[in-house]
Amino acid sequence: MTLECNIAKAKDYMARFAAEGVMNHIDGASVPAISGKTFETISPVDLGKLAVVAKGGEADIDAAVAAAKAAFPAWSKMPGAERRKILIKVAEAIEARAEEIAFTECMDTGQALRFMSKAAIRGAANFRFFADQAPHAENGEVTRTPTQMNTTSRRPIGPVGVITPWNTPFMLSTWKIAPALASGCTVVHKPAEFSPMTAKLLVEIAESAGLPKGVLNVVNGFGEDAGKRLTEHPDIKAIAFVGESRTGSMIMAQGAKTLKRVHFELGGKNPVIVFDDADIDRAVDAATFMIYSLNGERCTSSSRLLVQNTIYEEVCNRVAAVAKRIKVGHPLDPETVVGPLIHPEHESKVLSYFDKAREEGATIAAGGEKVGDQGCYVAPTLFTQATNDMAIAQEEIFGPVLTAIPFKDEEDALRIANDVQYGLAAYLWTNDLNRAMRMTDELQAGMMWVNSENIRHLPAPFGGVKASGIGRDGGDWSFNFYMETVNVSFPRASHKIPKLGG
Ligand code: NAD
Repeated sequence: MTLECNIAKAKDYMARFAAEGVMNHIDGASVPAISGKTFETISPVDLGKLAVVAKGGEADIDAAVAAAKAAFPAWSKMPGAERRKILIKVAEAIEARAEEIAFTECMDTGQALRFMSKAAIRGAANFRFFADQAPHAENGEVTRTPTQMNTTSRRPIGPVGVITPWNTPFMLSTWKIAPALASGCTVVHKPAEFSPMTAKLLVEIAESAGLPKGVLNVVNGFGEDAGKRLTEHPDIKAIAFVGESRTGSMIMAQGAKTLKRVHFELGGKNPVIVFDDADIDRAVDAATFMIYSLNGERCTSSSRLLVQNTIYEEVCNRVAAVAKRIKVGHPLDPETVVGPLIHPEHESKVLSYFDKAREEGATIAAGGEKVGDQGCYVAPTLFTQATNDMAIAQEEIFGPVLTAIPFKDEEDALRIANDVQYGLAAYLWTNDLNRAMRMTDELQAGMMWVNSENIRHLPAPFGGVKASGIGRDGGDWSFNFYMETVNVSFPRASHKIPKLGG
């Protein structure tokens, strides 16, 4: 598996997109935007054009919502066991096209093949996990009083909108779409404009595996028109959104008029906190993995390294050494760890923090520069001597960029860790169990890992606090979002009913 051989394969996979473009997919058909408008998607590898993409707007969203609404009665009434069978077939079909999905994702997003080769496997695992819960998703509980028997059950909420970002788009989309479909909802998906390609593969794969037409629809386009219309549409009952915090608040405002249920997975500025009693070798491996894998374009990246001052210098030296050794290069090179960032616009944003770091008085201990003059390549970077009030410590940079801040003791670590607007994930390194208990009680984060990098367990809840999100994914939490709980009360006996008026 050499780079040359992978580039040749990628050319083959890209050829159909170059020829056909990336169409919208509505009611089982691949269709251009109703307006005929298009935009281009480029590869961050060399900024070359990959394909022309349908630029959906209000009319396309309306057509997709109509299709999702028409498909809803049959899909939602299908027994869960039948839905499960179809969704398992979708998982198998995803696995069968794993290489195509991986190569397409690498070329469209710049993510390294060593990570994207697992994207389809993770996506298929999402389908299997949620499919297995479909048969009993409607079940609720029974509560009894002396006079009444209350029974709860769950019903799919209706057609829903799924709006996704450009980082690991295939895996992320399946994480939202699989539970929605398993719940019995139909879906209109609006993928990110920077990374439209694998959403098209997913809907094609799903329909080839037996998903009825209209159950999953895809409309490409920009947030301000296609995305906005989806969030405002009266027939869309809920919006599952993954993206930036400020977009989340816009969506909340846009959905207010139609009382939209929302689930938000937003930004993060996640601390990895290393005490001097920790296993430093493992802490350094985990911290560097969590910021330099996936190009650092990851909501749960450990973007703030908080290190006890007794070991600050040693840990920073070791992290800097790793950062300098990491291979930056073509995403299809099997040796590459850091590929190009998604788009020149995002690259400029990341590069701007190198100037900010210098202006704010931090030290650039590794990286801090663009790599090469072609494509969006940025060196793995470590800022040291930073304080938590600096922009590099407060703002989500969303690149392979780590900000290291020293702390004195537990209290100081907690204060710094919590002093940001975000609260998605936190990573804690200590061998003192009591300290781990105290710290995890006080850390403001929806997810914490002690002495570990982020390891996703699908039955566990995923989501953030503060500006990092609303709601939880995974396990039964996903079903609670995509379904309505209803209660029916039966009399247990001829109980006494109050008589009014005589
Ligand atoms: P973004 O918010 O710019 O865009 C996300 C999606 O929202 C895109 O499809 C976009 O077209 C759409 N959108 C934009 N404006 C809209 C509007 N007014 N109405 C409806 N839709 C609109 O985010 P991005 O730059 O694509 O992605 C990166 C962000 O996603 C980062 O902040 C990252 O932390 C976050 N993220 C969070 C998680 C999580 O689980 N918490 C996971 C992945 C990414």
